[in-house]
Amino acid sequence: MEHDQALEAKVRLQSLGARVPASPRVRCGGAGPSEGINISMGGLAATVPTGAWYVERSPFSVEERADGTWELVEDGRALGAVEIADDPLFYSRRAPDGTPFGMLAVRHGRDAIGSTVAQWCARGTDACGFCGIALTRDRGETVARKDPGSLGLVARAAGEEGYTHAVLTTGTTSVEDAGIGLLTECATAIAEVSDIDVHVQFEPPQDPAYIRSAARVAVSAAVNIESFDADTLARIAPAKHAAGLDRYVDAWKESVEQFGAGQVTSFIIVGLGESRESVLEGCRLLTSLGVYPFVLPLRPIPGTPLGGLAPPPPDAMTSLYEDASRIIESAGLSASDCLAGCVRCGACSSITHF
Ligand code: SF4
Repeated sequence: MEHDQALEAKVRLQSLGARVPASPRVRCGGAGPSEGINISMGGLAATVPTGAWYVERSPFSVEERADGTWELVEDGRALGAVEIADDPLFYSRRAPDGTPFGMLAVRHGRDAIGSTVAQWCARGTDACGFCGIALTRDRGETVARKDPGSLGLVARAAGEEGYTHAVLTTGTTSVEDAGIGLLTECATAIAEVSDIDVHVQFEPPQDPAYIRSAARVAVSAAVNIESFDADTLARIAPAKHAAGLDRYVDAWKESVEQFGAGQVTSFIIVGLGESRESVLEGCRLLTSLGVYPFVLPLRPIPGTPLGGLAPPPPDAMTSLYEDASRIIESAGLSASDCLAGCVRCGACSSITHF
């Protein structure tokens, strides 16, 4: 598939989803935009929704050819070859306590592994409506707290297999450190035994010293505000709204100071009910601070409070990607400079391709 065709298909697939045959490669739940499959087409990695309610009405399906390869089909018309990512070999291995490696970290995109090191949140009823970290935990597909030493062993095995970076996220297990303590322990364990570059994701901690400690062992960070539309944030992520924009600005500034310009990002989720201008305002603010705005479509995860929503339409995403990418470029930021994490991976958004 040509690059331009693949890019158009990626944007539409992430808004509409694709039907796939029942497959053990399909995973629902986990942190962030995680429901679906990892595919690659025309050189672009993409995570594609497959299990949500709206996928049934999508014109797309991924179908197996007679020779065992896969192709993308739209309304019965073959568009071209796609690859479905194979399970990593490390999934077959176990930690010393018997925990399967695949319960400690999973493949993300093309060459990343991802792990939610603490799979619970202190926010209680103020938890973010899009978050699915409790789902895989409650289904027994993962362990609630990752052992840093075991995660290091997973990273070493993944590195031997060609994976190059790790995305470590966490529930906000305490308001004081925002979960950064365990993130830093895990990043340290990975750095001790592997060459994997570590990206960490956290909410603003009360003390910026936690950010400095994370930056000693990780190479990039995400402090995700999710939306710059205050009313939307109050409705969808009340604890983030209550923390206030100033606290995020302080955390972004400290993170850029520690990790470097272009090594810090914030998700801006499109499709939560926010105004279009709030997305672009957010891009301007973030880029003025040296933070890369990771604009991405809402991925409603079945079983979460937002599981009944659909992602935004592809035309709206294309238009936002075009405008946001101009803001990013004029600020001198580039995804290709990012060492690890979602900006480097880019599978859940098309912003890095525009
Ligand atoms: S963009 Fe981020 S969340 Fe999505 S697959 Fe890549 S690393 Fe994982």
